[in-house]
Amino acid sequence: MKWVNDKAKTLKQGAIRAMFDRANTMTGVISMGIGEPDMDTPSLVCEAGKEGLDKGYTHYTPNAGTMLLRKAVAEKSSVKDLHYDPATEIIITNGGMGALSLLFLVILQDGDEVLIQDPQWLNYVAQVRYCDGTAVRVPTDSEHNFIMQPEVIESLITPKTKALMINSPNNPTGSVMPLETMKKIAEVAIKHDLLVISDEVYNTLVYGDEKCVTIASLPGMKERTMVVNSFSKSYAMTGWRVGYVAGPAHIIDRMTKCQENFNACTNASAQYAAAMALDHPEVCEELRQIFSRRRDIILEELGKIDGIKCNDPTGAFYVFADITAFGLSSADFCNRLLEEQKVVCIPGSAFGDCGEGFIRISYTCGEDDLREAAGRIAKFCEGLRG
Ligand code: PLP
Repeated sequence: MKWVNDKAKTLKQGAIRAMFDRANTMTGVISMGIGEPDMDTPSLVCEAGKEGLDKGYTHYTPNAGTMLLRKAVAEKSSVKDLHYDPATEIIITNGGMGALSLLFLVILQDGDEVLIQDPQWLNYVAQVRYCDGTAVRVPTDSEHNFIMQPEVIESLITPKTKALMINSPNNPTGSVMPLETMKKIAEVAIKHDLLVISDEVYNTLVYGDEKCVTIASLPGMKERTMVVNSFSKSYAMTGWRVGYVAGPAHIIDRMTKCQENFNACTNASAQYAAAMALDHPEVCEELRQIFSRRRDIILEELGKIDGIKCNDPTGAFYVFADITAFGLSSADFCNRLLEEQKVVCIPGSAFGDCGEGFIRISYTCGEDDLREAAGRIAKFCEGLRG
């Protein structure tokens, strides 16, 4: 790998992409592997994107994003009650991933430790390492619905701990952190002077009586929390690459300088469309209702399969199902499921050691496909039981 530095050499393709590459060589595959809404962006948002182009949103925007979108985030998004100043406390980024990378670039150095749940979405650990930080895994288990426990977090804090990641609703488990737990975690963060990074990209996707609260709204937390959000999941806008961070001005200022030097800004007409999208929360609600119905279907179908135990996923679009009864590793289970029944699920071990024995099932396909896939999983499990 001539000319490539040592850090770049360590980057690996994640297990999710690898699974897709395999599935792409096959026909008749149903994917329950993907972590994005399968539907196209609602037409109202697409029209706004076109309007943005017609209105001349074809130039660089301010590095922190257009004032139009920053104001819309401050006044109309889920953090509106926290009264962030759009001029200094909000930055528009290239999706949630762009938000996280800018953030880690400006806060981490010399092995600073970041506490990250295990199992967790893969990219946090990769980004933290790339930015010279150390990812410290916070183990969780199915008994606690894979929710981080305050005392476990506290036991892992060292003088090098700088930040704590929270992701609720969670990828890969679909769990939503109970308010009581969140309050105790906030106390730990305050006691140990930690920065909290709250990834809320799934916050419009909650089901039943579940409510989504941002940790930034708890007493003493706004000044130590970076709220990360994105239009990708809530508005089915993954390809538009628009996200944002709301947080203390001095960190937002450094992220803006970093963005100036690395990416300039987020796509201008996409920012215009995102600002218009925030006027239409009914779009998120429609998507939420679709996922809510699918969730009911997949939980009902999986519930009929002997040996599969599902957690209680009240958010996002994932079920984290226990497959330990079959005596296979989660990777073997998923590889064989793909080969024998042509269904893509993601091994829990891909998200951390605590995910072993589980598989992530995304209900990001239509209702007919969901039923068909569940039938194939049932057949596969029947075969394993012999
Ligand atoms: N955070 C979590 C937990 C995710 O699952 C994802 C995408 O899968 C993201 C952030 C980033 O999404 P995007 O960069 O498309 O906004």
